[in-house]
Amino acid sequence: MDLFHDMAGMGHERVVYCSNPDVGLRAIIAIHSTVLGPGLGGVRMWPYANTDEALNDVLRLSRGMTYKAAAAGLTLGGAKAVILGDSKTDKSEALLRCFGQYVESLGGDYITAEDVGTNVRDMETILAETRWVTGVSDAMGGSGDPSPVTAFGVLQGMKAAAEVAYGDASLTGKCVAIQGLGNVGLHLATYLIQDEGAKVLGADLYPQAIERAREAGVEIVSIDEILAAPCDVVAPCALGATLNQRSIPQLKCRIVAGAANNQLEDEERDGGELHARGILYAPDFVGNAGGLINVYNELMPSYNRDRAMRMARAIFDKMMRVFEISQADAVPTHVAAERMAQERIQAMKGLRPKHWGRLIADGR
Ligand code: NAD
Repeated sequence: MDLFHDMAGMGHERVVYCSNPDVGLRAIIAIHSTVLGPGLGGVRMWPYANTDEALNDVLRLSRGMTYKAAAAGLTLGGAKAVILGDSKTDKSEALLRCFGQYVESLGGDYITAEDVGTNVRDMETILAETRWVTGVSDAMGGSGDPSPVTAFGVLQGMKAAAEVAYGDASLTGKCVAIQGLGNVGLHLATYLIQDEGAKVLGADLYPQAIERAREAGVEIVSIDEILAAPCDVVAPCALGATLNQRSIPQLKCRIVAGAANNQLEDEERDGGELHARGILYAPDFVGNAGGLINVYNELMPSYNRDRAMRMARAIFDKMMRVFEISQADAVPTHVAAERMAQERIQAMKGLRPKHWGRLIADGR
């Protein structure tokens, strides 16, 4: 892989290789953009087959963070980190603290958080070496579990889609099929049933998740049937790539709006297919920005859940803007969402703010 070619192609500002054989650390930090603010993105720990695979992942994920932050209207750029290794066997205090020292060396241009293979406790270990870390527990002055905020944001995106599809943002009496009743899926189901008066169908792999959802009022269907269920809205809240050549022809809904990252297996092909079939797709990175909004609020002098929820409510307007661009430019909504993000980055490009006001607290 030609690193400089790929960095230039995707527009990355900086890629840092972190190596310390004494503690077994091999990591890559990719800062895609600091045009709008410091690059915030989680650190993923994964047993990559080789360095190229890890590099590919971190370059792609960090660019995605730039778009997510820009679309959400946050004073944040985009970045991500990967640690090469098995999180179950290779993680140690020394490795995490060494990673924290690398984060500190970037002076705040990169702010880390949890991701696949890392957790709240790991963030608290990293906190010993740098303050450029979010996703710590509420007991440590952090933001705690992001999933209620994420689910609330997804709900706002879904309501915006209903406004466009049905001329009314209310989901009362609508039927929503949720794929994945985990942290976000269950909160989403609860908002839909209790606050919106919607009917919710749901599916999950795990009996405990199914039981909790049934108690919350969800009507359980099998995992093979959930995407094909006759309903108004499908909400993918499990894994990525669930919208593909096999699933899209089966959809019987008018709207797709869920929490999972990278729902389109192939953006151009599957985003185009949804558009052609008249299914309104609420782009994932716009709708699921509540998790990012939540950790962003940790950078304020003190974390406040009400403020995070207020900011997540604004996802309704962002999603409406996406649909406006999609209609005006006659493009699929995933293209419109990228345009919206790029417009904001372009408008700010000349400014290059280096002081982010009250965003960054002076210590915790
Ligand atoms: P989670 O692991 O708590 O829940 C996912 C659930 O999906 C699990 O219960 C799992 O059993 C189920 N599942 C997996 N495959 C399935 C299948 N084929 N059919 C039905 N169910 C299946 O994860 P989460 O925190 O709820 O996140 C859900 C999705 O949203 C993920 O893609 C995540 O990346 C994304 N996301 C989460 C947040 C957040 O705040 N947690 C923020 C942004 C994006």
